[in-house]
Amino acid sequence: MSFSKMDKRDLYRCVSCGNCRSVCPVFEQSGWESQNTRGRILLIRDLFEGAATDESVFDSLNTCTTCGYCATTCPAGVNPPELVEAARYGLVALGKMTPTQAKIHDNVKTYGNTLASSDDRRGWIAGETFEMPKNPEYIFFVGCLDSYRFPDNAKKTYRILNKLGVGLLEEEKCCGSPLLRIGFDADNLIRHNLEQIQKTGAHTIIAGCAGCYNTLRNNYKSLAAEMGIEFSVVTVSQYLASHLDDLKKAGLHQLDMKVTYHDPCHSGRHNGIFEEPRQIIEAVVGPKNFIEMTSNREKSRCCGGGGGVRSGYNDLSMAMARRRLDDIPKSVDYLVTTCPLCYRNLRDAAGNDVKVMDIVELIEMAMEK
Ligand code: SF4
Ligand code: SF4
Repeated sequence: MSFSKMDKRDLYRCVSCGNCRSVCPVFEQSGWESQNTRGRILLIRDLFEGAATDESVFDSLNTCTTCGYCATTCPAGVNPPELVEAARYGLVALGKMTPTQAKIHDNVKTYGNTLASSDDRRGWIAGETFEMPKNPEYIFFVGCLDSYRFPDNAKKTYRILNKLGVGLLEEEKCCGSPLLRIGFDADNLIRHNLEQIQKTGAHTIIAGCAGCYNTLRNNYKSLAAEMGIEFSVVTVSQYLASHLDDLKKAGLHQLDMKVTYHDPCHSGRHNGIFEEPRQIIEAVVGPKNFIEMTSNREKSRCCGGGGGVRSGYNDLSMAMARRRLDDIPKSVDYLVTTCPLCYRNLRDAAGNDVKVMDIVELIEMAMEK
């Protein structure tokens, strides 16, 4: 088995102490040693040392949401989700993958999006009269989920961004995150999007999804350097937090309601974006009406949707989302988040019990008042 993407020192740095077990959201649900961080690492070591690969490894490796909580508790400094992704990559290179992995790969390869949609990716603009800025310095990278599943959110976000002179890519495609997280290369998509970015001449990309943000920021670097392209990446919440004065001038008012906030793993724990969404929320509801979830910031529980788990293990994914909903403080009116994947998982698990909303919806409510 090829482990070309594996940091072998990391693999053997693990001392099997089990610290990580207590925070793994998958282990919390399944209780199986093979479905917690330590068990996964032992399995990857076995594979690395020549154990035969068979189907049984999939339920261990593919149930990791890549949330990264384990990495924050590891006294040895291991980065388990990177090991899991590298092991998935090694298996995929041998042609060993689940039908779900194969389907996600085929969808993205055929349609340029994870949802197998042949519709116009810019269909969400229908009915709007946006004036496209010439030579924009900032570009909104919409992402697959907002483009196809939550067009209203894409529209609401771009209504705000367009007024601030932000442009769009002419032909955006999936950022590549779904492929990279489940063990495939995404070079063709990355190259395509980089060419699109290069065409605009923009210096900053504003990502509408935590997965897109993480991928654009961390997985585009080497190809971007090869192509001689330099750009920064920020999330929508980072960009809007730095434009709060503009939003206030445009009519942002305080709202009398209580909200809490779910930190998406890939913007929060993986990339340290904790303050900006909170700045926006506090600007809208005031500090007293913003109440933290029981676990928050670096210690946020995962929504259960990442790493291909929602697609491959939906019951497990929903169970993790329901557990996350238990962290909501009593008496809040809304659970706010900043990632469409988290939004979808938490909303689906919540049903009518909890109102889940994207931060842009909160801003829009505060503008309408
Ligand atoms: S990954 Fe870190 S915390 Fe988990 S068992 Fe290994 S050494 Fe311990
Ligand atoms: S990244 Fe998250 S789901 Fe994966 S092993 Fe670590 S804690 Fe568990």
